[in-house]
Amino acid sequence: PLVWLAPESEAEVAFEGALRPKSLAEFVGQSKVRGQLQLLLQAAGMQNRTPDHILLAGPPGLGKTTLAMIVAHESNRPLRMSSGPAIQHAGDLAAVLSSLVPGEVLFIDEIHRMARSAEEMLYLAMEDFRIDIMVGKGAGATSIPLDLAPFTLVGATTRSGLLPNPLRDRFGFTAHLEFYDTAELELVLERAAALLELDIDRVALAEIAGRCRGTPRIANRLLRRVRDYALVKGSGAGIDAVHAALELYDVDELGLDRLDRAVMQTVLTRFDGGPVGLNTLAVSVGEESETVESVVEPFLVRIGLLTRTPRGRVATRAAWKHFGLTPAVEPPP
Ligand code: ADP
Repeated sequence: PLVWLAPESEAEVAFEGALRPKSLAEFVGQSKVRGQLQLLLQAAGMQNRTPDHILLAGPPGLGKTTLAMIVAHESNRPLRMSSGPAIQHAGDLAAVLSSLVPGEVLFIDEIHRMARSAEEMLYLAMEDFRIDIMVGKGAGATSIPLDLAPFTLVGATTRSGLLPNPLRDRFGFTAHLEFYDTAELELVLERAAALLELDIDRVALAEIAGRCRGTPRIANRLLRRVRDYALVKGSGAGIDAVHAALELYDVDELGLDRLDRAVMQTVLTRFDGGPVGLNTLAVSVGEESETVESVVEPFLVRIGLLTRTPRGRVATRAAWKHFGLTPAVEPPP
């Protein structure tokens, strides 16, 4: 159901790769984080040491993978990519860590989904560039220390709250990525349109920018759907093509997709506006609670349709209005 959020095919992956900014200067928005990274990388460069470990936190599609690649690129270091779900045993991590070349940047996406045993190995690796490898079982088991090449870990997570404190503390810097505003998204789209050699006017770009959930990945995907539409219909890529393509792909005026709407409608109609607990909500829409919490909710909260209260999620007055429904009791503003 997450139509826009996970790269679904090799073509999508290639497309994203082609649009990825290669340097901090090309990276649009997130000016605070950009400045912070710039300083960190520059200082490390001046002292000729590996940059501190970096944690990138935020919803999917805001540029975490892109920033990891930029860190490697800007500091002229090779990059190794891995992910939490691929590290299910300490041994998986040991294999990666022991094969790093000096100064390499190791990117672990979805680092909160790594196995617990690997997490513990990572503490020592991050701090001392060393791991202990367990050999044998039972009474005869011994641990063999192994020195590692110095490396920079770049971790990405949609759920920084799920990381154990000892792990979070070992990052020299945590960047919290925010949703992009419309002006920034227009820049993202303008750049992508130029790379795609797509002739599209400002009004059309602004419309896409306002309907992509504050997320560059979605902006780029919508742009591609508009391009497809213009190609197939033999029309120009103007505002009419944008409206038609967005309607075809179920993106509404606020940029809500099907899952966003399913969540809101469940809160509004099945639970009379709430409060409703996260797990109940997730079961009702047939999704994992992690997805609802880290992908769907942050945007709904950000645009003021949903609030989180200690008793559960509650629809706001704006939500009732957007869905054209009348609440039985006065909802929160
Ligand atoms: P994440 O790792 O956070 O899920 P990615 O780094 O994979 O997100 O970014 C998704 C897509 O959005 C990429 O194709 C990239 O080109 C684009 N993108 C993300 N952030 C920016 C940005 N600041 N400027 C331009 N394009 C961006």
